[in-house]
Order: sequence, then structure tokens, then C-alpha cells
Amino acid sequence: MRPVVRGDSPQAVDFVNYRDAFGELAARIGMFCSYCERRIATQLAVEHIQPKNGPHGRPDLERRWENFLLGCVNCNSTKGAKDVVLANLLLPDRDNTAAAYEYTMDGKVKLAAALTATQSTLATNTLTLVGLDKRLNQVLDSNGQLVAVDRVAQRMEVWLIAQDSKDDLQANPTDTFRRQIARTATGHGFFSIWMTVFQNDPTVRKLLTKEFAGTATDCFDPTTTQIITPRPANGLPDGSKL
Ligand SMILES: [Zn+2]
Repeated sequence: MRPVVRGDSPQAVDFVNYRDAFGELAARIGMFCSYCERRIATQLAVEHIQPKNGPHGRPDLERRWENFLLGCVNCNSTKGAKDVVLANLLLPDRDNTAAAYEYTMDGKVKLAAALTATQSTLATNTLTLVGLDKRLNQVLDSNGQLVAVDRVAQRMEVWLIAQDSKDDLQANPTDTFRRQIARTATGHGFFSIWMTVFQNDPTVRKLLTKEFAGTATDCFDPTTTQIITPRPANGLPDGSKL
């Protein structure tokens, strides 16, 4: 899960309507769901980290910049008005969520092997909260090919595109082509899949952290692009748990 930097609020007071923050959020962290990492061209929405209503609602945070991320309809609806206790979750605006998960070609999001028991619990809580642990909804076309209708299948699809790009890069190993790959990646989303497929290419990985707007670059060593943990302190409550 891509760690992001939302930055300071663009205004001194809370927003009049939380939807007014959408443009600034999209400019800062890109048109990607903050949880599933998909690029969402339409119907991406301002996501309240702590729900604005319901039994666990925080209406006092409904219009507050620090409570906003961007969410797709799938992650948003799975999350719903569930209770969100910051200390019990890993969140992409305050923790190094890049270190928490591993992405595999079968479309799964798994816990990273190096996590402690406590970190594993937090990482699992986040997966469950937004449904990134859901199973594949297998829809086949008339040729028996998988149709990418859900987040799992879409991860599989983009994995193959990234793998093809890697194969092409081996035939044409230039920095111009590396930049093209990073730009192509932003058109598809799924930052973590591209970072995984190109795990042995620090140049591509560095380009990915730059091309995906708002990536928390301080979570990655600037030279090796290896993940730095814990995330450097960013002043947010319950931040840098990983
Ligand atoms: Zn999503």
C-alpha cells in the first residue's frame, strides 16, 4: 500500500464542505484510491479516515483535512462506518504501509514476512477494514479468459502489464524507456505492483516514487530504494507504527 504525504491543509480552517477538498487532495496524492491503489478516473471520492457518522462517527472531523484520503467505491463501501481506531491500524498517510504488504502475481495482498506479531495484527486490521483480503470474483469471457471485474483480477491484470514492460526493458535497457514505464504505471495505478515487479531496478523504482504524486519518498532509501522502517515521524497522531 503506497505510503502518501497529504501535507499541511491548504487552508487555515476546516472546509465548508468536505467535497471541496477533492481537487487539492487529487493534486497532492494523485487520482488513486489510497487503499487499493487503483487509478480511478471518475467517482474517486474524499475518504474520511475516521467515519463522519454512524455509531463510531466523528462529525467533528467531517470537514478536517487531516482526516481525508481518497477512496474508491469498493474500499469506501467495505469500510463504511466501521470503527477506526488509529492506533490499531496501519494507514498510508502516517505509517510505512509499503513495508506492511507483499503483492503477488495471483492478485493477492499478503502480509510482509518480516513483520512482528503486533505489526501483523495492525496490517491485517487494515486489509480487513477495506476488503483487500477479499477473494477473486472469477468472471470468464467466452474464450475462458479472466475478465478483470474486481480488485483482485485488476491486480493480476496490471501485474502482467508490468511484467511485459520489464521484459521489454531487458530488450531495450535505456533510461528513456524507464521513464516511459513509470509514466505508463501512473496510467494504470497499483504503485506497489510496479515496485514489486521492478524490485531489482532502483532507477525505475525511484522514478515510480516520483511519478506517483504524493508518494512518501522518505519511506525509501534515496539510493537503493529499499524500504526504510519505521517511517520517519510525520507529526500525525499514531504515526510511524511501521
Ligand atoms: Zn480502493
